[in-house]
Amino acid sequence: MTEPRPDAPSDPCREIGSIAAGLRARLEGESRAGLAAVRRATPAEVEAAKNAPKCGMRSAECGMNGNGRLSHSALRTPHSAPDSAEAARASPEAVAGALKHELAAHVHPAVRTLDLFEFGSAEAENVNRDEALARIAAEVAVCDRCRELAASRTHTVPGQGSPHAKLVFVGEGPGEEEDRQGLAFVGRAGELLTKMIEAIALAREQVFICNIIKCRPPANRTPMPDEASNCMPYLMRQLEIIRPKVICALGGTAAKWLLQTHDGITRLRGRFYPYRGAQLMPTFHPAYVLRNYTPDTRRKVYDDLLKVKAAMDEAK
Ligand code: SF4
Repeated sequence: MTEPRPDAPSDPCREIGSIAAGLRARLEGESRAGLAAVRRATPAEVEAAKNAPKCGMRSAECGMNGNGRLSHSALRTPHSAPDSAEAARASPEAVAGALKHELAAHVHPAVRTLDLFEFGSAEAENVNRDEALARIAAEVAVCDRCRELAASRTHTVPGQGSPHAKLVFVGEGPGEEEDRQGLAFVGRAGELLTKMIEAIALAREQVFICNIIKCRPPANRTPMPDEASNCMPYLMRQLEIIRPKVICALGGTAAKWLLQTHDGITRLRGRFYPYRGAQLMPTFHPAYVLRNYTPDTRRKVYDDLLKVKAAMDEAK
């Protein structure tokens, strides 16, 4: 599909709302997958969280309004965050509120690695990864969070590969062939990805391959921000189950959504970014490589993949 031209959300309030929604979905998803016990807040705790002071600022200065929503001024004004530990004792909802507040205080236009949780929680150790991934695929198969995509897709494409992969490739979204077969990276770009994997002495069966979104956008257009926000919780749950050592983001859309940055792939590629206990390497999307099949482009991708392999070997 077309090389991603990611459009990160431009409205910070909406973006923070998406993060909070993703966090909520993730906690609920983890609970369903048996990864974490999510205790519902008692009515008294919810009431206490609502009435608690949101930060050390005077109310006129604080961007958090009575409904716990953030104003634009808050997003621009760094200030002290509430005591997360105290919130953690209160309820998961209060924790989500505290994290939202902290994120709002530190929003930065450059890379913001949302390192809220690390992969590899103790609870995840005992999960049957095949079953947990199959459960996500089953949810994806009936998902209609994005009405347009749900109406136009032939198949959902949750991703495939080893549940124990040390390396996960994340692309933008399914193309025509992927939509037809229900498998990620099986078109021309997929063939090139196979060669890229083999170039570092691995096989497709040893890695996991998936996308930011699980349904093909019409005419292979770039996913809309709300579509990516809708679908990211599925990807986060997959990564939590697989717990890779290295994640390779293929192309600008995947890199930008994973790292929450506005920077382009040319600037991002070639180095690692810490990502929830794993290392994330952005590189060019195979579709871009096919369109720019020059020695220089191929050399850059190969260099990136060599670094990926070295990081995998080091993490053994
Ligand atoms: S793209 Fe993801 S969130 Fe949107 S309908 Fe498909 S599976 Fe659901």
